[in-house]
Amino acid sequence: MSPIAANLQAVRQRIADAAVACNRDASTICLLAVSKTFDAHAVIEAYKCRQTAFGENYVQEAVDKIAAVNTLVESEPTDGDSHRTEWHFIGPIQTNKTRLIAENFDWVHSIDRIKVAERLDAARSSLPTPLQVCIQVNIGDEQTKGGVSPEDTLALARSISKLSRLKLRGLMAIPPASDDRAQQRRYCAILRDLKDDLTAAGIALDTLSMGMSGDLEAAVAEGATIVRVGTAIFGPRAARSSKRIEEITR
Ligand SMILES: *Cc1c(COP(=O)(O)O)cnc(C)c1O
Repeated sequence: MSPIAANLQAVRQRIADAAVACNRDASTICLLAVSKTFDAHAVIEAYKCRQTAFGENYVQEAVDKIAAVNTLVESEPTDGDSHRTEWHFIGPIQTNKTRLIAENFDWVHSIDRIKVAERLDAARSSLPTPLQVCIQVNIGDEQTKGGVSPEDTLALARSISKLSRLKLRGLMAIPPASDDRAQQRRYCAILRDLKDDLTAAGIALDTLSMGMSGDLEAAVAEGATIVRVGTAIFGPRAARSSKRIEEITR
């Protein structure tokens, strides 16, 4: 078995165990494989193990990779049961990248301001289906992280709900890093409570995108419906600072 196949199996087992521990049905938890910095061959390795949802952070890297993956998928012998890949954008959004994002992704998890939402909505007019979106919330009030404040989330949700080519599905967060399970759960509970508040205010949401390699058990315990896992599937990432700068200045 390849390392990616073995890792994927281990992550699926972690999700299943976490679900059992809190009496949840594991099939209600979607595993998003975060493939940023890894190439199309790594994605195909996971795809062969029936992983179909992939998360990306960097627009140009992702657009090139999606095209390469599509070509490889078409050349793979099918077992009559092949699945379509589904791409989720989870990184910070620059307004000049909204068209590429709207045209290449199925989901966007990282909307944190109305201007970005409006631009994604306008750019999605070329596709027949709405873009599935989550609002990113800065639950730890961290300067270094994107996301709207919990206080401003309802107003943003109301504005996004009016955009016909976006389908608001839920909330996403990247909690402050912590090795302490109780602390991890407290952060995840903030997002869950916020989703409940929005639901009570009349905004129907079905998605909580939270939990990564280090805290997916805490996230599942607090109701995560999408966990975004990179390192535990693909291994540690190399620094990509020069590539990042290239993309920003592109
Ligand atoms: C990179 C990234 C992940 C995956 O993190 P790991 O710790 O490697 O599992 C999840 N969510 C977001 C938003 C990311 O940028």
